[in-house]
Amino acid sequence: MTSAAGIDVKTVNLPDGRSVSYTLTRKPVKNINFRVSENGIVSVSANSRVSVKFIEELIEKRADFFLNAAERLKNRAELFEANLNSVRYLGRDYPVRIIENSREIAVLDESECRVFTKSKDKKYIKSLLENAVLTRFKALCEELDREVRNTLCEKGFPPPPAKITIKDMKSRWGSCSYYKGRISINSRLAAYPKETVLSVFYHEYAHFRCHDHSKAFYDFLLMIYPEYYEHNRTLK
Ligand SMILES: [Zn+2]
Repeated sequence: MTSAAGIDVKTVNLPDGRSVSYTLTRKPVKNINFRVSENGIVSVSANSRVSVKFIEELIEKRADFFLNAAERLKNRAELFEANLNSVRYLGRDYPVRIIENSREIAVLDESECRVFTKSKDKKYIKSLLENAVLTRFKALCEELDREVRNTLCEKGFPPPPAKITIKDMKSRWGSCSYYKGRISINSRLAAYPKETVLSVFYHEYAHFRCHDHSKAFYDFLLMIYPEYYEHNRTLK
């Protein structure tokens, strides 16, 4: 076999039946260097004084490490192909990092989304990622709800009590059942900037005052949230 770079690929067969493939490049380097690539082949560079026998003994000794690294790289490549290499939250992409661990949870923090799982099932991993985003989004919606209610009170239009529900909706970004005092917010909004989510909150709260989409409705909405069009535009 020959690697993409035209270098011969050799194989070290392990006593337990597994095998490690490698390529050897002779370079005037001081140490023996190993690098595992996505296809599982170990690239070795060593100077011409190091024997092949010695290199193969080292590979056999470190076989577990190389095979694990290859497996991790392969998983990462697969997640990338399945579009699970990042999550989008509030208009920003966060890289996904899988940590082999039986906690079976994903956590979205300020810089990345860490997934603690032993599973390789992409559908399952996707559900963990969605939960991580939803947890953050629910907390944000509570904050935004308080903010909108405060603004409405300050401007002299105290809203009635409202129960906020976050759920996946097919055709609407939000809805307001003004008689029941319920507002639903589409969980898919989690991918959009915070101001866009805020614009949906203002829109739904404005329905407590005007039930339709009349001029009076938009006059009221723009009075309580003048940036409405600027931030809601992306949802059209
Ligand atoms: Zn509406």
